[in-house]
Amino acid sequence: MTDPQKLMVEQLKNYGISDKRVLEAMGKVPRHRFLPAGFFSEAAYGDHPLPIGHEQTISQPYIVAYMTERINLKPGEKVLEIGTGSGYQAAVLAALDGDVYSIEIVPELASHAIEVLKTTGYKCNVKCGDGYQGWPEFAPFSVIIVTCAPQEIPEKLVEQLAEDGRMILPLGGGFSQRLVILRKKQGKIEQEEDLPVRFVPMIKK
Ligand code: SAH
Repeated sequence: MTDPQKLMVEQLKNYGISDKRVLEAMGKVPRHRFLPAGFFSEAAYGDHPLPIGHEQTISQPYIVAYMTERINLKPGEKVLEIGTGSGYQAAVLAALDGDVYSIEIVPELASHAIEVLKTTGYKCNVKCGDGYQGWPEFAPFSVIIVTCAPQEIPEKLVEQLAEDGRMILPLGGGFSQRLVILRKKQGKIEQEEDLPVRFVPMIKK
């Protein structure tokens, strides 16, 4: 049988992902380990989102790879993820040698992610909390990646972005979300609109 993870990486290349480090990370992180038991490996590597419990989903491989490619994380850079979910995206960022911080609002998902990241050996700092607050103790971050969709750009996250920092987030509600990329240059924010996407909403407490 062909290795489903290798097939996934081939498919990502066909879809236009070209950053070698991102492809390498996607080929390395064992996606099936981050899913609830019962997903045999082939299903885990198909290009679709999958349920992870608590009405949440793990994003499809293409979106994970695409967002990771767009934020251009360099080794050692500090990165904040909002919406740890399964922990998979956090592991991909750790595989790129990022200094990873990730916040999840659902306690059970946060503890599951902490456990899996530990057993798979990806070093990430995960906490259960409200992503709208960011993680001020460790700010500023070179990169912020939001994997749930707020209606408006969370102000505190913009504040916690470092100079020359990049932030990527799905913005908007329901069927009209778009990926937005922000860049902080000399204290000013540049905003770029990107692909239409579909993420779970970012929960407001
Ligand atoms: N990045 C994840 C997928 C995330 S799904 C992965 O790789 O598996 C979106 C996640 O965002 C869900 O787990 C959801 O519980 C979480 N979330 C929603 N609102 C949030 C908030 N305000 N703060 C932190 N996490 C939030």
